[in-house]
Amino acid sequence: MKDIVIIGAGVTGGFIAKELSKFDLDVLVVEKKLAPGLEQTKSCSGIIHPFQLPFKLLRSKLCLEGNRMMDAEAEELGFEFKRVGLITVATNLLTFLAIPFIILYLRKHGVFAKPIRKKKLLEMEPNLIEKAYGGVFIPSAGVVNPVEMTAKACLFAKLNGVEFLYGCEVVGIERKGEHFVVKTNKGEFETKVVINCAGIYADEIAKMVGYEMKIIPGKGTHVVFAEKGFNRHLVVAIPLKPNKRTKGGGALIGFDGKPLWGPNLIDVESKEDTSVKKEEIEGIIAKFAPLFKTTPKEIIAVYAGLRSIAGSDFVINEPVKGFINVAGIQSPGLTAAPAIAKMVLQMVSKHFDLRRKEKIARLPKKEKSEEEICRSLESDEIVCFCNMVTKREILEIAKEFKCLDGVRQITWAGMDCEKCKAEIVKLIGDKVLKDREGGEIAWF
Ligand SMILES: Cc1cc2nc3c(=O)[nH]c(=O)nc-3n(C[C@H](O)[C@H](O)[C@H](O)COP(=O)(O)OP(=O)(O)OC[C@H]3O[C@@H](n4cnc5c(N)ncnc54)[C@H](O)[C@@H]3O)c2cc1C
Repeated sequence: MKDIVIIGAGVTGGFIAKELSKFDLDVLVVEKKLAPGLEQTKSCSGIIHPFQLPFKLLRSKLCLEGNRMMDAEAEELGFEFKRVGLITVATNLLTFLAIPFIILYLRKHGVFAKPIRKKKLLEMEPNLIEKAYGGVFIPSAGVVNPVEMTAKACLFAKLNGVEFLYGCEVVGIERKGEHFVVKTNKGEFETKVVINCAGIYADEIAKMVGYEMKIIPGKGTHVVFAEKGFNRHLVVAIPLKPNKRTKGGGALIGFDGKPLWGPNLIDVESKEDTSVKKEEIEGIIAKFAPLFKTTPKEIIAVYAGLRSIAGSDFVINEPVKGFINVAGIQSPGLTAAPAIAKMVLQMVSKHFDLRRKEKIARLPKKEKSEEEICRSLESDEIVCFCNMVTKREILEIAKEFKCLDGVRQITWAGMDCEKCKAEIVKLIGDKVLKDREGGEIAWF
């Protein structure tokens, strides 16, 4: 009998597992994909948001808390996190006049924001249009690789005793007295508590215990450009009228410094529809290009993800004793994940007499100094030259996750060019195929 079964190893399931691993509990995570973070989490923008409007929502509170926790999380888990800052630009007189009010409003809610004059603005972002009036700088905004962040949380949890089953899909849940039986394609697991972190499918999991909710997929498309450094911060225009359903995207940057524009928001019917249409790409470019003197030229990738929208807020509740929903985790769920995990720990503490482990193991530090890169170069250890990823890094992750998509997303190897991708397939292809247990391989 397990104490807790977590369904889903996206960023929320991963961070909950990580937090629970610090206590004397028998925890199992079941994930239908072959590696963590490969659904909504992988296709998000990777922004650690400084705030979420309106401030009264649970997702807004958890966003603020998660943002504040992020440096400590990155330090504890060893993932890359950069506070690059957000610039909101006044592109007309009306929004320029609103700047002092925006600053007051944000500061009142605990978000540090600073006005910036036009001259400074253009120093900070030389590519911005000359007719920008000024702006607001919010330094707490940051960027991460969302799959790396999730994988590190899962690896930390595993190191501290949490069991993970990948390629394991939940197909039913039955009540058995006070407990639950979680039915999967890899067998049945009896457990005292179930935590539903199934992302876009969380409504279907909730239905298995008789709780009705509806998740509507909200598609968001991104455009990635090759021109690193084109914009150095996250850049958005101050909207004349904020949209209640979306922050509206921006001229963002990825954790690797490449311009990442988007996302938009399109309601779609299917939970599998991550198609990217030509009009969406054109729409995103048309929306953000007017902020700059020129437009980045080389599109190297486009991708879309589906937000799990269940109304305007997160749905974190316990509708049936011992069944905890962490559902409707739309944006800013990546930012909020560490705070969600803390909240869920509180809920779990009502079921168990929680005892903190005396010793908590730490993941080995991933230091990649310039010296190490040079050594790797000399010994032919670099496999992906675009992102300077070594053979050792790739093989270490490939040992944990038998899935090419996972290895690439976590290490960022082979994300930019076909040549590096081919090198990785050459390096791990045989291993992936040999080690798999009948699961589906995410070749593409
Ligand atoms: C376009 C877009 C942009 C975004 N940008 C940002 C951003 O910049 N910053 C931010 O803070 N947030 C952002 N978000 C939101 C963020 O991505 C999500 O809030 C977060 O990833 C949700 O994580 P999750 O773990 O709840 O869901 P998921 O990542 O979807 O994880 C759920 C997991 O459950 C598994 N699963 C599902 N069904 C089953 C089953 N039956 N059995 C076993 N496993 C199952 C899935 O395979 C999946 O791995 C964005 C979202 C989108 C779509």
